[in-house]
Amino acid sequence: MSTIIQRTNRAAVREELGRGTFDLLVIGGGIIGISAAWTAAQAGLRVALVDAGDFAGATSSASTKLVHGGLRYLQTGNVRLVAENHRERRSLAAHVAPHLVNPRRFLVPIYEGGPHGAAKLGAGVFLYSALSAFGDGLGRVIGRNHALQQVPALKAEGLKAAAVYTDHQMNDSRVAIMTVRAAVAAGAVVLNHASVEALRTASGRVVGAELKDGLDGAEFGVSARLVLNATGPWIDRLRVMENPAAGPSVRLSKGAHLVLKRQEPWKAAVTIPIDKYRVSFAVPWEDHLLLGTTDEPYEGDPREVRATDGDITQILDEASVALDGMRREDVTYAFAGLRVLPGGPGDVATAKRETVITEGRGGMLSIAGGKWTTYRHIGRVVLDRLGVGSEVLKTVPLPGLAAPAAVAHRLAAAPMDPTVAAHLATHYGTLAFDLADLVRRDPSLGEPIHPDGPDIWAQVAYARDHEWAATSDDVLRRRTTLALRGLDTPRIRQRVADMLRTTTPEER
Ligand SMILES: Cc1cc2nc3c(=O)[nH]c(=O)nc-3n(C[C@H](O)[C@H](O)[C@H](O)COP(=O)(O)OP(=O)(O)OC[C@H]3O[C@@H](n4cnc5c(N)ncnc54)[C@H](O)[C@@H]3O)c2cc1C
Repeated sequence: MSTIIQRTNRAAVREELGRGTFDLLVIGGGIIGISAAWTAAQAGLRVALVDAGDFAGATSSASTKLVHGGLRYLQTGNVRLVAENHRERRSLAAHVAPHLVNPRRFLVPIYEGGPHGAAKLGAGVFLYSALSAFGDGLGRVIGRNHALQQVPALKAEGLKAAAVYTDHQMNDSRVAIMTVRAAVAAGAVVLNHASVEALRTASGRVVGAELKDGLDGAEFGVSARLVLNATGPWIDRLRVMENPAAGPSVRLSKGAHLVLKRQEPWKAAVTIPIDKYRVSFAVPWEDHLLLGTTDEPYEGDPREVRATDGDITQILDEASVALDGMRREDVTYAFAGLRVLPGGPGDVATAKRETVITEGRGGMLSIAGGKWTTYRHIGRVVLDRLGVGSEVLKTVPLPGLAAPAAVAHRLAAAPMDPTVAAHLATHYGTLAFDLADLVRRDPSLGEPIHPDGPDIWAQVAYARDHEWAATSDDVLRRRTTLALRGLDTPRIRQRVADMLRTTTPEER
C-alpha cells in the first residue's frame, strides 16, 4: 500500500514556507518548476515550490501529450536535440513512469503532391529510430493498404504509402501531479494557488518572495538562498520584478488542440505534414482523438489564452488534409497553451525549442523553453547551475510504479468494473488501491461521476485529500478526464465544488 499524503492544510504549509531560509524557492509549478523542485529535493536541498494557479494549470496541461524525440526537429537539423529527447523518452517509459507513459505507433501518410516524398520520409524515420538505437523497432515505409488498415479514417485518394515510427504518449496533467507527489516525498514543501506578488531583496540580491494565497487572500513570504523563476510564459514578468529595466527575453507562440469523439479504434496515430516544416497530429488519446496543434505568435495576457473559433476551424481543416470524418460536432474539448521561444528573429514555427537559463542582476535564475519529454534533464541542468552535482542522483520512479495490467487485474477482482479498473490503473498505478480502499469504506464513491466516462467519485475525494485539488477546474480538467470528454456539466461541477468543501472524518 502506498504512503498517503495528508490533505493540504494550507495554513500549516504557509507557516512551513515562512519558517527559516530555504535553499531553493521555485516559482512556477509547471513541469519545469516541479522537476527542478523534485531534483533539488532529491539532492538533499530544502526546497519550496509555489504556483499562482494549479500545478500544471498552464502550458504543462496544454501539450500534445507526447513523450517524443520530435521527428520534425530532424527537419531543422537538430540531431543532438532529437537524440537527447529520445534518451529521456525511453527512460521515462521504461524506468520512471511505465505505468503512465505508453508507446504509440505513428504513421506519416505520403500523398501525391505532398510536401515530402517517400524516399526523404523513409530516410527520416530510419534516422529517427537509429537515434534511439532502434529501441522501438525500425522506422520504415509501409504500403498504402497496410496504412489504411492501421487508420481506416486515412483519406485513400492520392495515398501512396506511409512512413512509420514509434514514440510515447501520456496524460500530462496526471504525470505532473504524480511528479509533485514525488517532490513532496523527497521533502519539498509545495503550495498551489499561491502567487508571487513581489520579490524579497537584500543588498540588491533576490532572497525570496512575497506571496498571496489565491483562495483566502492570506499574505505570506518565503526566504531562500536561491530563487528559480520557472514561470513559463510569465518569465519576463518575474524578470521585471527583479529588474524593472529588464527587456523581453522570450517570444510566445500559441498552440491550440481539440479533443474529438472517436468513431472507431485506430491502431496508430497520424502525423500530417502541412508544409515543409509544420505537422499536425491526430492521436488516439483517452478513448478520444487529440488533434493539433497551431503555431501562431501570441502577445496577449498568458492567463487569457484560449482556443478560438478560428483555431478550431484551422485544426479541423489541417486534419482533413489526410483524414475523413473530422467533424466540428464531435469536438468535446478545446484548449490552448503557449510555447516559450528564446527571443530573436525568425519565424516562430522554425524557432528551436531549447532550454535557456539566464541569471538576472539580483541572482535569480530564469528558465525558459524546453520540452515535457526532457523535464528530468532540465531539473539536472538547474541543479548543476546551483553548483550541486546531479551526477550522483539515481533514476527514481514516480509514485505508483507497477504494470498497469496487473493493477487492473487486482482491482477488477475487488470487484470493480473492468473499464474503471483499467482507467484507474493507467492513471494512478498502485495508488489506485488507495482509491479502491475509499470505495470499500464508502461504496457511493465507486459510482461513475458521469455514465459516459470511467471516472468515479473516489477520484474527487482523493484529488481533494492527496492531490492538492482546490477548485472544480483542478478536478475536472487536471485530476480526472471529465472535461476532455465533454462531461463537466453544471450539475457535476456543483457536486464537485460541494465535495471539495466537505471535510474528512479525521478533520471533524
Ligand atoms: C501547444 C504545445 C504543445 C506541446 N506539446 C508537447 C509535447 O507533446 N511533448 C513535449 O515534450 N512538450 C510539449 N510542449 C512543451 C511543454 O508543454 C512545455 O515545455 C512545458 O509544459 C513548459 O512547462 P513550464 O513549467 O515551463 O511552464 P508552465 O506549465 O506554463 O508553468 C508555469 C507556471 O508558472 C506559474 N506562475 C506564473 N506566474 C507566477 C507567479 N507570479 N507566482 C507563482 N506562479 C506563477 C503559472 O501559474 C504556471 O503554472 C508543448 C507546448 C505547447 C505550448
